[in-house]
Amino acid sequence: MGPGTPASADAVLGAGALARALEGEIRAVGLDLLARMDRHPAPGILSAKGAHARLMEWALRDPEFKAQLFRFVDVLPALDSAGEVVRHLREYLGHVAPAQRTAFQAALAAARLAPALAAGTVRAQVAAMARQFVTGESLDDLAARLRANAAAGIATTVDLLGEAVLAEDEADAFLARNLEVLDILARAAERVAPPASDLGPGGRPLPRVNLSVKPSALAPGVSPHDPEGAVAALSRRLRPILRRAWELGAFVNLDMESVRWKEVTLALLRSILEEPEFGRGPEMGVALQAYLCETEQDLAALVAWARERGRRVGVRLVKGAYWDTEVVLARQRGWAPPVWTRKAETDAAYERLSAVLLENLDAVAPAFATHNVRSCAQAIARADRLGLDPRAYEFQALFGMADDLKAALVARGHRVREYCAVGALLPGMAYLVRRLLENTSNEGFLRQRHAGADAARLLAPPGGAAGPQTRAPAGVVQAEPAARAFRNAPGADFTRAEPRARMRDALARVGADLGGRWPLVIGGREVRTRAELTSVNPAHPEQVIGRCASASEGEADAAIVAARAAFPAWAATPPEERAAVLDRAAAWIEERRFRFGALLVLEAGKPWDEADAEVSEAIDFCRFYAAEARRLATPRRTQEVPGERCHESWVPRGVGVVISPWNFPLAILTGLTVAPLVAGNTVVMKPSGETPIVAAWLCEALAGAGLPPGVLSYLPGPGRTAGARLCEHPGTDFIAFTGSREVGCGLWEIAGRTAPGQANLKRMVCEMGGKNAIVVDDDADLDEAIPAILQSAFGYAGQKCSACSRVIALARIHDRLLERLAAAARTLRIGDPAVPGTAVGPVIDGGAREKILRHAEQGRREARLAFQAELAPDLVASGGFYVPPMIFADVRPAHVIAREEIFGPVLAVLEARDLDDAFTLANGVDYALAGGFFSRSPAALERARREFLVGNLYLNRGITGAIVERHPFGGFRMSGGGTKAGGRGYLENFLFPRVVAENVVRRGFAPDEE
Ligand SMILES: Cc1cc2nc3c(=O)[nH]c(=O)nc-3n(C[C@H](O)[C@H](O)[C@H](O)COP(=O)(O)OP(=O)(O)OC[C@H]3O[C@@H](n4cnc5c(N)ncnc54)[C@H](O)[C@@H]3O)c2cc1C
Repeated sequence: MGPGTPASADAVLGAGALARALEGEIRAVGLDLLARMDRHPAPGILSAKGAHARLMEWALRDPEFKAQLFRFVDVLPALDSAGEVVRHLREYLGHVAPAQRTAFQAALAAARLAPALAAGTVRAQVAAMARQFVTGESLDDLAARLRANAAAGIATTVDLLGEAVLAEDEADAFLARNLEVLDILARAAERVAPPASDLGPGGRPLPRVNLSVKPSALAPGVSPHDPEGAVAALSRRLRPILRRAWELGAFVNLDMESVRWKEVTLALLRSILEEPEFGRGPEMGVALQAYLCETEQDLAALVAWARERGRRVGVRLVKGAYWDTEVVLARQRGWAPPVWTRKAETDAAYERLSAVLLENLDAVAPAFATHNVRSCAQAIARADRLGLDPRAYEFQALFGMADDLKAALVARGHRVREYCAVGALLPGMAYLVRRLLENTSNEGFLRQRHAGADAARLLAPPGGAAGPQTRAPAGVVQAEPAARAFRNAPGADFTRAEPRARMRDALARVGADLGGRWPLVIGGREVRTRAELTSVNPAHPEQVIGRCASASEGEADAAIVAARAAFPAWAATPPEERAAVLDRAAAWIEERRFRFGALLVLEAGKPWDEADAEVSEAIDFCRFYAAEARRLATPRRTQEVPGERCHESWVPRGVGVVISPWNFPLAILTGLTVAPLVAGNTVVMKPSGETPIVAAWLCEALAGAGLPPGVLSYLPGPGRTAGARLCEHPGTDFIAFTGSREVGCGLWEIAGRTAPGQANLKRMVCEMGGKNAIVVDDDADLDEAIPAILQSAFGYAGQKCSACSRVIALARIHDRLLERLAAAARTLRIGDPAVPGTAVGPVIDGGAREKILRHAEQGRREARLAFQAELAPDLVASGGFYVPPMIFADVRPAHVIAREEIFGPVLAVLEARDLDDAFTLANGVDYALAGGFFSRSPAALERARREFLVGNLYLNRGITGAIVERHPFGGFRMSGGGTKAGGRGYLENFLFPRVVAENVVRRGFAPDEE
């Protein structure tokens, strides 16, 4: 059935027959395309000749080699000497599979003898690989490409390499280059007659100049948690591009990046086109990704919007280039993947979306961007059925890929546009690696074709594909198929509208309900005191969060006595019942996730995402320790020996005192409290005086979960009196503490003193501070390292024991890192944490602010202030306890700011000669809590594993945000006693081990043991 077939003919056919007829038409178009492609053979990277083709061939056969090769390609542009190139080559590819070993070892041996020669050859190989996909390094190459494409009947769109920008000057440069591209293309287009692909239905000329823009490169420091703010920031640099495009009659397309930017990208398109200035032009479009389960809804909404506004928009339909990343990130966070998980589902969605596009040509201008012949054929067949002019839609393909398909489509009279990426290799590496992965993906069409799949297979319909309603929307909790004892609670995804609305609502409700009075709870009885603690919002100190009673030494004594009285019954409660209380508490908190999150924002000054992550951590502690208690409930056989049964089991220690800090007022407090409780101990909880209301809510959750009265006492009060008294009390069996080094060391001494009448030696579980360093190697990816440093150093205003307070940079990259770090730090959003997208809020109180500022003064005397953020006047006027983030350079190891924990947004940057020096500096402090290392050298990463001595070492990632069970957390030296919160074995701190050995031999007869 060709163009012009009356659609009414379909009416006489049933749905099945219709589908069969369409299938037949798709197959016919597909066969025609394949036949034409054979007449225009175009070697892709898989079939090219030469050394890099051989590498590709090996990569296809050996996934490990592929991973190592692509990692080497990724690091190569960052290496500045031949020696470094050869070293990395050896580290990545020196241990490759046997098939490649001989060839490689010969090459590597030669490389050792003549590194310069080898490095030159390697660079040339990778450059050749890059040239396959990158149109040119310089903008001058563009005009030539436009001409070459036009000669082949192909239109062009240009994309500037480079993705998320870190600083304003980087975004300015991106803007300037985009304007330049528009001008160059416009000039070039004037000199070349329009190819057929630049002519629409009836020969109507289409915009000759076509620019593709990655929205995330338009502004640094924007947060998808705040789409309105993000759209405003991105619009500032998109407007000049649109103005120039409008003058030149150009078309601007927004690329679609990872799903976290999807809502912002679509909102940006709509909002900018609604601005009066762009009411009539330029023409704009957006890429939509068929692999996202929600794209059908998004397309429907876009069509409705375009129709309502009378503004036709271009839609480039792609399958999506970030599939692996989306799946990995969603799995890490416990979210349902936002993408279809079977290739056939994506292909089927592509076909449904194609139909929608072709049926709504009044609202959208479709561009089918695919290298898959079936995907092209189905679009053509559907368009033909609708009787559409083939010039009413276009095909798009990437530079360096599927040239045969481009030629075949042009020969059939279709419009084809080539997507040309231009720019320097370094920012282009992510693009190159994506293309290499795409070409070598086993499921990909190109690979299948290269592997010799026949036409029937290549053109087969995407079988067994699910319909659009079969998947949970992205960001929704997905049950794990395998029943596991413990699973981390998934956090809220604030890139989505619904969780944002719930958080806003919770903030309003909790905010309206503040100011209550909370009594002490001792042995299940409420006790009011004359003295009170007042808790305030650190961003608005005039806002009282609540008032709570404040214990004296007398109440401390009473609490221990009550806890002793409650101990026998609770210790005798079956472990399963105790564990069930924790599971119910987890459910209680999870049901109120947003309310708890809102309280953390208001009482502790936490930004939204940090508050939400803390709620998840509290839930995790409950569930994880419940699972651990169940595990320990069954006595363990110690050794199998005939005639004797030996079992180890555990009994609770007794009465514990929990003293916890304000910086994780829910998560740390929950962990310290529920671990001893589930182990059968009774607990007196002394929360921090800055955040007693969160603690009261936790007690409510535990009571609501069925914790018997008296098992847990709530005892806020001054540390020096009530706190000290609790710890000194002879009735106390253990102390679980997290806080400052000064207090922790003091309590350790108290625990070491044995008073008359004391039943047990006191156990101390003690976690203190850190002076955590991130070491940056000279081959590190600074685009990754800098955001991770900023988040680790300044997230929650640096008030985490795991926060990064030192950066140790290798000499070769020190200056560049410092300069880019300072420029990126300028984009940090400092403000009220109740506002979504805020990165840095206030510090906890006036005392903390004074102390941090004193350290900063010391820093100014010792070192050089390389960056200090400016606080907006309204923040200063708000009375909130804000401290501007600061970065000090030229810091030496002896300086106070390089040694002492500051607990605020102050970062010291030190320079290291080499890795020996770097690890010596990193380890050369009193603490050993958390640390990070950024490097792309496998050998250096291995060294860090061995030599960087901290409790929690993070490689090539930020150093905060430990996750229960995944990253058991805690350090040694002056960071703590070596216990690991959230890890196996933690519960044992609150238990005594017992072993029972029974002789089972009677008169020489021993039963058979199972
Ligand atoms: C002109 C042009 C512009 C582009 N712009 C963008 C853009 O803005 N944003 C963007 O993300 N991509 C963009 N792309 C890249 C594009 O997403 C990939 O090139 C494309 O996905 C490859 O699909 P294909 O139809 O050519 O090949 P196929 O081989 O048919 O499809 C491969 C695709 O299937 C999907 N897939 C693979 N495995 C699975 C699985 N197990 N489950 C579900 N789905 C799976 C993935 O999307 C993969 O890329 C663009 C491509 C072109 C040609």
